[in-house]
Amino acid sequence: MARSLQTTDLPLVSLHGVGKTFPSGVVALRDATFSVREHEFVSLLGPSGCGKSTALRILAGLIEPSDGDVIWHGGAAPDGSKGEIGFVFQEPTLMPWANVAGNVHLPLKLAGIGREAAMPRIREALTRVGLGAFETAYPRELSGGMKMRVSIARALVTQPKLLLMDEPFAALDEITRFRLNNDLLTLWAAMRQTAIFVTHSVFESVYLSSRIIVMTQRPGRVHAQIAVDAPYPRTEAFRTSSDYAALCRKVSEALVEAMAQDDLAQGSGERAA
Ligand code: ADP
Ligand code: MG
Repeated sequence: MARSLQTTDLPLVSLHGVGKTFPSGVVALRDATFSVREHEFVSLLGPSGCGKSTALRILAGLIEPSDGDVIWHGGAAPDGSKGEIGFVFQEPTLMPWANVAGNVHLPLKLAGIGREAAMPRIREALTRVGLGAFETAYPRELSGGMKMRVSIARALVTQPKLLLMDEPFAALDEITRFRLNNDLLTLWAAMRQTAIFVTHSVFESVYLSSRIIVMTQRPGRVHAQIAVDAPYPRTEAFRTSSDYAALCRKVSEALVEAMAQDDLAQGSGERAA
């Protein structure tokens, strides 16, 4: 299951000079340019409010950029309505009145597949996230980490090509987060989707990613792209290694630089807005 990025992996999507100005006048992104290759695990790292969620929503086709282009190299954009994109939000956003299987069924239901026909796929997704025994449990009976596992199973049940995750573990305690980090890497290695993961945690981005895109403060631009050369599978031994510490330091320094650049580029007027 060891994986490294192959030079033959093709570009999947590129953002070229993407900007987003909301009707309120807030400029969330300005001139954001980066590419993601198939099978990569890329993190978008930046401070709160720098436009990470906006970039992810643009990639998901949920909102349109105001400027620039999103180019899908394989042709058409993956179709969220056909289950080609899995989206995991910061909150698990489960339906409280439906049990675990019912929640995971949702994307297949929206694609017109009934519960009974969907059950093998629902069970497989739940098994992958370690919740095989919980299909009839209700969200209120689950811990925060288990709810997030259900949310990940729901995103994976359609076997999407692209998995977009927006700070999915930010609200969890550290031990639960570490476990979910490990399980997410196992899933990614097995399923071979392309993963784009938003976080404001340097430590989490280094642990998970094959590459980190460091963004400036709002309006978000790409300040640096840092390859994380450590091999997969990554385990707790990586988390306590000197390589990991050195990479975290390098990424932290890039983040500090990104914030300083922003001060120079914008002055205090726009920052206060
Ligand atoms: P991040 O995910 O990095 O914390 P966001 O992409 O959510 O940042 O937001 C970037 C900026 O855009 C923030 O200032 C936020 O308040 C603003 N913003 C996000 N969504 C909207 C919206 N729908 N309308 C107006 N402003 C928005
Ligand atoms: Mg966000």
